[in-house]
Amino acid sequence: MEGLTKIADLGKPRVVIVGGGFGGLALAKSLADAPVQVVLIDKLNYHAFQPLLYQVATAGLNADSIVSPFRKILTEQENFYFRMAEVLSIDATAQVVETSIGLLRFDYLVLATGTTSNYFGDKLMEKTSISLKSVSDAIELRNTLLSNFEQALQIGDVEQLNSLLDFVIVGGGPTGVEMAGALSELRAHVFPRDYRELDLKQMDIHLIQSGPVLLKGMSAEASAHALKYLEELGVRVWLDNRVTSYDGYTVTLKSGERLITRTLIWAAGVTGAPIAGLDPAALLKSNRYQVNEFNQVKGYNHVFAIGDIAQMATPTYPEGHPQVAQPAIQQGELLGDNLKRVLSQQPMQPFHYEDKGTMATIGRHRAVGDIQLFGKQYHITGWLGWLAWSFVHVLALVSFRNRLSVFLAWGWNYLTQDKGMRYIIGKAKAPIKEKEVDVKAIV
Ligand SMILES: Cc1cc2nc3c(=O)[nH]c(=O)nc-3n(C[C@H](O)[C@H](O)[C@H](O)COP(=O)(O)OP(=O)(O)OC[C@H]3O[C@@H](n4cnc5c(N)ncnc54)[C@H](O)[C@@H]3O)c2cc1C
Repeated sequence: MEGLTKIADLGKPRVVIVGGGFGGLALAKSLADAPVQVVLIDKLNYHAFQPLLYQVATAGLNADSIVSPFRKILTEQENFYFRMAEVLSIDATAQVVETSIGLLRFDYLVLATGTTSNYFGDKLMEKTSISLKSVSDAIELRNTLLSNFEQALQIGDVEQLNSLLDFVIVGGGPTGVEMAGALSELRAHVFPRDYRELDLKQMDIHLIQSGPVLLKGMSAEASAHALKYLEELGVRVWLDNRVTSYDGYTVTLKSGERLITRTLIWAAGVTGAPIAGLDPAALLKSNRYQVNEFNQVKGYNHVFAIGDIAQMATPTYPEGHPQVAQPAIQQGELLGDNLKRVLSQQPMQPFHYEDKGTMATIGRHRAVGDIQLFGKQYHITGWLGWLAWSFVHVLALVSFRNRLSVFLAWGWNYLTQDKGMRYIIGKAKAPIKEKEVDVKAIV
């Protein structure tokens, strides 16, 4: 390791936060009034609101409606410093992290690096499919979706046409379900106007779920409604099935069926994004760091992990908290308070997760939600669920500009049944396996 990063030394304890997702950002904000220097490091210069990535991918929102630069979010916070860099390794004994721009000393280190897509070791799947973990993924998916339709206008062969118009989504969690709903909205309301020369009945949307229900982890009522809604929208849902292989063109299912598609969307799971250097005993099979009730990584006093990358076993959550935004935010906020307690020689408080509920939307006017209110669980579905989902998501966005931009885009989409961000900017996913293309002879 060589070369110190050029950053002011304030002579105050330095808290280095790696990752400005929901957890890292909540922590940085909660340290605003603390006598510390807060250094946030992220390989991106913006916070991305991942729950709405699928809307960017399906032309419902512009990417800049769901992202916000860290420097803008925390511009008023005097103890806040940001460096755009990737953290490569940690030396906990020397209290130094190695980054792509040099070494950085820390007094307290907080890992909030989230997750990456989990392909369960299938390298071909990783290469051929499109995941939905980042804004670049969402834009690539939108480009691919629209490029497929542009190409399809020139294709005569039925199988090749289907390979372009059909979509296979793997994973029946919230991302897969929401994606399937949004694609079916495009098929029903937008593409018939844009592509009058194509027969939209040829566009099939398949959702493959390895378990017996959709939205595992939500109530039976929510799962059943999600299935009903998707079937009403004409999505082919395959339960208790699995993709065994995909070569960029042919999908083979465990049940033996084959589907043809050039676009397989991988929403089947995530795995932690740990950083080299800590004791391997602290890393669990899930690739998440084992943390105690104060979010301290096992074996370390000054190294913490929060959010998706942290696994805190509790009686209610023996496998750790769900990898969703709320545990990350709540852990970030509590850790901020706890670091202030440590600095004023007070004991830290243990983390208790307050589950506020889970929601998923499935196209227009359809959503499911399990909401916790005053210690009771309520189920909401249909129109009410959809309104509640829209309200919660607009409020959860990180800046007023994002909220206004999403609100206006949704209002416009609602009134016109249109999705106006149908741009192909940048690259689409390159087809892995070029097939002979039977271009229509006479155009
Ligand atoms: C498509 C999608 C839809 C979702 N929908 C919902 C939903 O509806 N509701 C919900 O509650 N949750 C949802 N989630 C999950 C939710 O987004 C995550 O649980 C949440 O983002 C976790 O927050 P985090 O702070 O732990 O990590 P993240 O938000 O993932 O942030 C991690 C940050 O760390 C940075 N980073 C990673 N490694 C390094 C490194 N080595 N060096 C520097 N920086 C690094 C990344 O750039 C990123 O900014 C969804 C997730 C996805 C992908």
